[in-house]
Amino acid sequence: MCGIIGYVGDRKVTEVLIKGLKRLEYRGYDSSGIAVFTNDRIEVTKAAGKIAEMETRVAGFDMAGTHGGIGHTRWATHGAPNTTNAHPHRVGDIVLVHNGIIENFREIQEEVFRRGFKPQSETDSEMFAFLVHFEMERGTEFVEAVRKSFLKVQGASSIVVMHEKFPGLIVGVRNGSPLVVGCDGELGGVAMASDVQPLLDYTDRVAFLENGDMAICTAKGIEFLDAASGRRIERPFAKIEWSADRLDKNGYPHYMLKEIHEQSRTIIDTLAAAIGPSSGSLPFEMVNEDGIRAIIDADRVSMVACGTSWHASLLGKYWFERFAGISTDSELASEFRYRSPVLSKRHLVMGVSQSGETADTLAVLQQMKERGVETMAVTNVKGSSIARVVDYPYFMCCGPEIGVASTKAFTGQMLMLYIMANRLQRGAAMSDPTGALMDALVKRHRQTYELPHHLSRVLDDGGATMCALEKAVQDVQHSKGFFFMGRGYSWPLALEGALKLKEIAYVHAEGYAAGELKHGPIAMLEPAITVVVVAPRDQWYEKTISNLQEVKARGARIVALGHAGDEKLAAMADHFVPLPLAEEQLDESLLPFLIAPVLQLFAYRIAVLKGTDVDQPRNLAKSVTVE
Ligand code: GLU
Repeated sequence: MCGIIGYVGDRKVTEVLIKGLKRLEYRGYDSSGIAVFTNDRIEVTKAAGKIAEMETRVAGFDMAGTHGGIGHTRWATHGAPNTTNAHPHRVGDIVLVHNGIIENFREIQEEVFRRGFKPQSETDSEMFAFLVHFEMERGTEFVEAVRKSFLKVQGASSIVVMHEKFPGLIVGVRNGSPLVVGCDGELGGVAMASDVQPLLDYTDRVAFLENGDMAICTAKGIEFLDAASGRRIERPFAKIEWSADRLDKNGYPHYMLKEIHEQSRTIIDTLAAAIGPSSGSLPFEMVNEDGIRAIIDADRVSMVACGTSWHASLLGKYWFERFAGISTDSELASEFRYRSPVLSKRHLVMGVSQSGETADTLAVLQQMKERGVETMAVTNVKGSSIARVVDYPYFMCCGPEIGVASTKAFTGQMLMLYIMANRLQRGAAMSDPTGALMDALVKRHRQTYELPHHLSRVLDDGGATMCALEKAVQDVQHSKGFFFMGRGYSWPLALEGALKLKEIAYVHAEGYAAGELKHGPIAMLEPAITVVVVAPRDQWYEKTISNLQEVKARGARIVALGHAGDEKLAAMADHFVPLPLAEEQLDESLLPFLIAPVLQLFAYRIAVLKGTDVDQPRNLAKSVTVE
């Protein structure tokens, strides 16, 4: 969950480390620290809170004789988020940073106490430094001591270690949590990090460590070892297409707002990357048809995911059933992995994860592989653990998502599943045999793609949607609680709208299938509660309107999202937020792509008015690599 950066080379070390940590701050931000080789010492600086806290302590640091160092931004699992528990941790000459959990840390701690040592911190991480220290006391050489210690720890971890007597050498080990290395294309030297973002400032060619790999880094280059045998191995370097400029805010006050507005572009990028030219009788083919063939051969699909990705997969289920007529479940990975799921003969399990590192989703896919089940994934990160574990990885093209609350990755996941469902069209449920939907999605319309064109109008700051949204937000910002409700495609959107509000504005919000409200939560409705109803004119419209009547009768405030010109809906609502398009302009199955960004902005504006930290909401981490 945390961020790791390591660097050896001739650049100003503290600058490289702090810039890298800022690139990674979205991953963990309860404390941070760096350790730098200076002359014959390792200097450790750390602080609780944001990186800026630590940065002020590093200002004025003497850069003479620095050769490299390591840095860490923490998302605490063992011990409070304070300066003592912040990484790097030191035992004797050993200094390290750690991402993940050492499950058998208690056993190691017992040995530490038995030998008369007293750990400085409450972390599991410090125990690894003791292991290396003890190993070296037995006369083992440093790299070998790291290797042997690594073989003794259990759990998913990445650890980067340095030794005071070996300036300019950093050793990374990976088991579970990602580690990536790259050579500085300009000035020489080597950088290592827990994801590619910080490396993009120096190179676009990186190698991902596999589980059980070690990377021995000096300014001259990188050597890979297999930790189990200690033998040298080769790891391929891959080109990363993301450029560093996509890591900046580009004038927006928050990454989240920038990423919401990027969605018109990420939809085009994902379409362009996913869809190949049409051939024969098919309206289009996907660039990668192997996975499509696997789904066609399957008799059942289970999508597994967590959080926002789970909401995207729920929409995927609706589309797979409607367009492809294929039996599809959408499952919470954390539940699926510990159930006893009954698999059919030709079952296919598909993971959906922005980062490609989500621990529970990854675990399900690994379990399925072991059982010989075909696996597939939709993710945003090439080279991620999930992408590498599955038989058929599919990538949306959203670029790096820095805001902790997922936005553009959500629509990217939806789009990928939508494209697949359309490509799979078969069976009785298929309502669009000619591929007209894909035409609507792909077809160029006034020099632009039709769907992104509509989305740009929705997001237009002076447009009807945004003006109405702002009025609504100003009015309901102090509500005691929120219900989001919708039917059909609008149900997963309601879940997602509520999740966004909880994540960044810290207000109680629940998403409900509109038909379910009367089975309990309607008891809570009163004027201090706001109900956000998602009611576009689709096949579920009339039913949703009936449910809205029930809400109105209980006096809750109503914010309604629907097609422009829908007077019936507008009359029932305290605030009507119009989608600027006529009913017949876009098929109902495409409306989620226009509605999701409006709900994201609803949460964003309330969070801004409340003054929360939108990009780095409390207690959350971007990629959830612990179960
Ligand atoms: N388990 C370690 C700790 O609590 C590392 C947490 C992280 O990945 O940030 O310090």
